[in-house]
Amino acid sequence: VPLERFSAAWRESYVSGEEVKAHARDEGTCVFCALGAEEVSAESGVLWRSELSYVVLNAFPYGSGHLLVLPRRHVATLGEMTAEEYGDFAGVWRLAAAALEAAYRPDGLNLGMNLGQAAGAGIPKHLHAHVLPRWSGDTNFMTSVGETRVLPESLAATWAKVHHHLGA
Ligand SMILES: [Zn+2]
Repeated sequence: VPLERFSAAWRESYVSGEEVKAHARDEGTCVFCALGAEEVSAESGVLWRSELSYVVLNAFPYGSGHLLVLPRRHVATLGEMTAEEYGDFAGVWRLAAAALEAAYRPDGLNLGMNLGQAAGAGIPKHLHAHVLPRWSGDTNFMTSVGETRVLPESLAATWAKVHHHLGA
């Protein structure tokens, strides 16, 4: 599979360069730090919180069930994470993948990270991993209408479905 096609599943083109600069300067303006402090709720989109990590719906999903898994601390690289943080993060990432399998029974999953702006990260200063369910022949999974991408289910419906299977 060409790398370009593979990584298209979690491209982050929805965030403009200006927004990246505004949000990623430091912890005080970081949208992912702010989300990490939110309660688990359909309103916040946060699905799960551990002591060191959290899972949130991607507000601009590639497809239904597109989740982000993040360390709660503002770190940009894997190397900045402590062993404890990385272990927690990896465990929560696995939980998220299992919840998607249970909730959607997909044919496959994409799991990936874009580290740094050059790699396609929309918010490069706060590391985040993607998980999303895939189906055979799902190139038509989302219909494009001009620039608007139409999802087959609402974010609230996705939240309820995945939250149920995270077994919180
Ligand atoms: Zn942050």
